[in-house]
Amino acid sequence: MACIAVISFGIMALGLSGLAPGNTVTVSVDGEVRWQGSLREDMTKTFSGADGYTCDIVVEKGRVWVERASCPDKSCVRQGAADRSGQTIVCLPARIVVEVSGRKADTPYDAVSR
Ligand SMILES: [Zn+2]
Repeated sequence: MACIAVISFGIMALGLSGLAPGNTVTVSVDGEVRWQGSLREDMTKTFSGADGYTCDIVVEKGRVWVERASCPDKSCVRQGAADRSGQTIVCLPARIVVEVSGRKADTPYDAVSR
């Protein structure tokens, strides 16, 4: 089993060339971290941002997205789901930023291979 996991991880790493699958979600409001959790643990939570706007953020099956928002443009909802390290979903009116980050162990490998 360990062998299969290592091989499939290798193939994924090659195919995506740097865009590692994310595993951590960080939600910030106005630059302040409000919540951080695993992309593997499903959750739904409402975050209050600037000017009283709220975003309902959903983590499900390794992806995160804004399900509903009270902001006027709803661009955060339209940005859809993020599941790759480095992807962000931004709600400008509420100043809410959802960021997906990868495992820290990926960084040294990248540094060596480049
Ligand atoms: Zn929004």
